[in-house]
Amino acid sequence: MQKNEVYEIEITGMTEEGDGVGRVNKMAVFVPYTIVGETVRVLIVKVLKHYAFGKLLEVLKPSIHRVKAECPYFYQCGGCQLWHMDRDAELSYKRQKVEDCLLRIGKIDVKPDPTEDAGIMERYRNKAQYPVTPEGIGFYRRNSHQVIPMTDCKLQGEHDAVVLELIRNWMREENIESYAEENHTGTLRHIYLREGKEELLLVLVTRTEEPLSVDGLLKQIKGKKISVVGIVQNVNDRKTNVVLGKKNLLLWGRDYLIDSIGDVKFKISPQSFYQVNRFETEELYRLAGEFAGLTGKETLWDIYCGIGTIGQFLAKKAGKVIGVEIVPEAVKNAKENAVLNQILNSEYYCGKAEVLVPKLVEEGEKADVVILDPPRKGCEERLLDAVTSVHPKRIVYISCKPSTLARDLQYLAKKGYETKKVIPVNMFPRTAHVETVVLLQRQNT
Ligand code: SAH
Repeated sequence: MQKNEVYEIEITGMTEEGDGVGRVNKMAVFVPYTIVGETVRVLIVKVLKHYAFGKLLEVLKPSIHRVKAECPYFYQCGGCQLWHMDRDAELSYKRQKVEDCLLRIGKIDVKPDPTEDAGIMERYRNKAQYPVTPEGIGFYRRNSHQVIPMTDCKLQGEHDAVVLELIRNWMREENIESYAEENHTGTLRHIYLREGKEELLLVLVTRTEEPLSVDGLLKQIKGKKISVVGIVQNVNDRKTNVVLGKKNLLLWGRDYLIDSIGDVKFKISPQSFYQVNRFETEELYRLAGEFAGLTGKETLWDIYCGIGTIGQFLAKKAGKVIGVEIVPEAVKNAKENAVLNQILNSEYYCGKAEVLVPKLVEEGEKADVVILDPPRKGCEERLLDAVTSVHPKRIVYISCKPSTLARDLQYLAKKGYETKKVIPVNMFPRTAHVETVVLLQRQNT
């Protein structure tokens, strides 16, 4: 096979990244924007030793699940992968992906439940970080740092587009330069918006420390009846892909957002993690609670606890909650949130879970039920060793990456924890990402 050749292929599978896969003479060809069962004409754009990449030229035989992509940026923007298929196809793709990973990587033969889904495919996100570049404000093209300028992203809340427009005007009026990555010049690097049910926090990430003058901008935003509660300037002077720097300057209002999940309230600082889907998170936590099976007496460990959300959502049903988290601002929020929600049975520790949890075990702490909710790279073995060494009855593993989940479930199986139930959750509609909640039970030994 050679670059620039054109082939007709049938799509027979999908990758973890959401691309269709077909074959030419046994060699796998990855083709974005296709669906299993389709016959497509593709231009070969890159050939490697064992596989190749194709560009979709024409759908010769469309799937019944193919729909018109309702986002004008879909075929350029790197944010979403699945606008070309209907909801059914998206949900079954996600279930299948979890099943495949568990079996292939983890040798775990458990059929996941159908993907749990709130059915809201648009405007579900409560957080966005828009790069600001000389080419415009928007999101990156796939696998690149080239920005696709956009006026509205359909995953974001309605207010984002309004605020972005006002910021564009304000930048022009105040002569604020966009950040140019190549030569590390300019001022404004990112616009970071976080929106709760009732309020919005605006964070402006700059390269330089000089405080921005935002009076004009603030007046405009308020004029649009958007309930902004604070404007924070975050300073990031490093040459890095990491969005946020360490230093925050409060320009106006307060430097945190308040949101609620069920009847629990949360204070959220810019640096703290918070689940991004405003419609699905409560269900995720409810499932985690169901799996935790608390009766009121148990000691619950909430490992990778962020601002304390899951543990506090479940605290009333637990004897005691211990939370562990690496980001100091998040731990501070978790402690404040415990006070805010009058939760007296929780304790929080700041540090690496893989270092702190073994220490807690050494000090004699025990757990009946453990929640693990790690970032994409999953858990380190020394953490899983420490967790299993206190023999909790159940472990609830919440994962945003099926491949590392599968690896960790296999390790936990060796430690005597059986995967009992697996539920994929559609936290990131229209993208290839999937959240999964898993119940593991200690085998009788
Ligand atoms: N359970 C929380 C947060 C989950 S996201 C919620 O539902 O909101 C994962 C969290 O793990 C993030 O807050 C991140 O800061 C934290 N984290 C990442 N690496 C860590 C580590 N090695 N030890 C402890 N926490 C870590």
